[in-house]
Amino acid sequence: MKNKIFLAGNWKMNKNITGSLCFIDEFHEMTEQEDFFGKNREKIKVVLFPQIVNMYALNQRIRDLEIPVLLGVQNIHWERSGAFTGENSSCSVRDAGAELALVGHSERRHLFGETNEMTSKKYTACFECGLRPILCVGETEEEKSRGMTEKILSSQVRSIFDPDGPTEAKEEIIIAYEPVWAIGTGKSATSDDAAGSCDFIREILGEIVGEMRSIAATILYGGSVNSSNALSFIEKDGINGLLVGGASLDPLEFMGIARACTCNVT
Ligand code: PEP
Repeated sequence: MKNKIFLAGNWKMNKNITGSLCFIDEFHEMTEQEDFFGKNREKIKVVLFPQIVNMYALNQRIRDLEIPVLLGVQNIHWERSGAFTGENSSCSVRDAGAELALVGHSERRHLFGETNEMTSKKYTACFECGLRPILCVGETEEEKSRGMTEKILSSQVRSIFDPDGPTEAKEEIIIAYEPVWAIGTGKSATSDDAAGSCDFIREILGEIVGEMRSIAATILYGGSVNSSNALSFIEKDGINGLLVGGASLDPLEFMGIARACTCNVT
């Protein structure tokens, strides 16, 4: 049994404004029908990551509906402002309603060439305007087959925490373990393997930021999670929540995952 489950839905480059509003309306209706948040408000924290262009409208609708769903941004630039065409700063997205930010998602690393160094700068930049980062880490299929999973996870986690960086960066840490080979493939990690990697990440964190902070850290699993396998991950002690891509696009499926998340919570 554990305290509070964190459920994040990464919509990637899907849904326009109408689609985003339809989702939240349908999700809201389902939660109302079963008084889901009335019963589970203390057990679950739900965050959606829409495209930035939908953020403001979605935030307004969430406020109107008074549904306890937070918003996050899928990517930011590390500078506050300037000549960076096409980029968004942490302060602008905060203003539009985002409270969290994905940093180092595998699609950013592997499709857009983002390095550990860039990821680290983005992680730190989140704190300038009060965004809370979710650091995504994970090995590729090749790295896994070469037995390099722990080496990769260790270097991705260690590269983030700058000893001279802001203190907040070492508090209330959220890390998502997302094996690259499991993202969008329908081939999730086994719950034992996922839990093993999450435990390893916590161990590394302990060496960097101290045991107290690592115990308090929120560690998520992501990679082909759906309403049928969600509970198997949530049941593991070291897994504090889920980062869901494809299955978060459908309100019914996302609702099923949310229900699974509250099954094993005190
Ligand atoms: C993701 O995008 O972070 C993700 C885990 O995707 P999916 O659930 O589709 O594998």
